Amino acid sequence: MLFVPIDLRSDTITRPTDGMRAAIAAAEVGDDVYGEDPTVLALQERVAALFGHEAALFTPTGSLANLLAIRSLVAPGQEVLCESSAHIARAELGAHGAAAGVTMRTWTSPRGQVDLAAISGLFAPDMGPFFVRTTAVSVENTHNFAGGAVLPIADLEALRSWSGSVGVAVHLDGARLWNAHVATGTPLATYGAQVDVLTVCFSKGLGAPIGSMLVGSEAAVTEARVWRKRLGGGMRQVGILAAGAAYALDHHVDRLAEDHAHARLLAEACGVDPVSVDTNIVVLDRPDAAAYVAAAREEGVLVSAVGPRTVRLVTHLDVSADDAQRAAEVLAEL
Ligand SMILES: *Cc1c(COP(=O)(O)O)cnc(C)c1O
Repeated sequence: MLFVPIDLRSDTITRPTDGMRAAIAAAEVGDDVYGEDPTVLALQERVAALFGHEAALFTPTGSLANLLAIRSLVAPGQEVLCESSAHIARAELGAHGAAAGVTMRTWTSPRGQVDLAAISGLFAPDMGPFFVRTTAVSVENTHNFAGGAVLPIADLEALRSWSGSVGVAVHLDGARLWNAHVATGTPLATYGAQVDVLTVCFSKGLGAPIGSMLVGSEAAVTEARVWRKRLGGGMRQVGILAAGAAYALDHHVDRLAEDHAHARLLAEACGVDPVSVDTNIVVLDRPDAAAYVAAAREEGVLVSAVGPRTVRLVTHLDVSADDAQRAAEVLAEL
């Protein structure tokens, strides 16, 4: 390849911008295990307030935030219900079982949607001494493996109203909730009001190098803080990372709309109906995903195979309008 490849493998590959690096360099720090890092404390307060919750906890990864969040709702030997291609079910290496003793049952929706009929059918809070007890439902917005699909707020409200009536907790994996917020205009606090605990990532479309946040009640966060340390996730002068995340909140939320426009452009070039592309992820059905990935690479466009017939393209901060145009031309040829 004679030129720098256009990397559409993931929105995690972004590198911090000069402005973000300057914010990181200037961060005031302290020992966060002592609760003395002012930059972390400010970010936690800010993000809790954005979602209308009491408290928040900074974590190195979204997987750890999800593990701590679900652990706060589901005791060992109890279950969480989730969609069958949810990140918590497929892409966290079984952490919820391996590290928290949580079991899962799943419903299946082609676009990762909330299926309240299926969920209420699975729900088993107390079926006697032989059956696992359901104590939480988890949803993912946007849904990664469903191609960045948005969950409509009306469906989340219906889930909230049902969950309140039967007394089951709700967790939201919001790794890309920022994308759903920008795509729909739904306020972050409206999403926050539908759930007991949620997680967000700064390291995806927002372009920070590291960092996620668990958001919930004071009690859930206090407990999660203990478990974060117990699992080896206590961090010290981590304000240098929180500063990158705060910079991303200031500068990189509204611009996600550009990523969404680029994704629609790529979809059109690849024969996918752009109306089916809600945010920054495009999923292609190709007879041989690995061969397609190799052919695109030859032409300087990096994409990933996420199944034998499934290719995923993700737009992000480091893909300019020109890059998107060039990638669209290359992929249209393929
Ligand atoms: C990326 C992602 C996470 C967290 O991933 P980490 O790599 O552990 O930060 C969680 N949920 C979804 C839906 C994701 O896409």
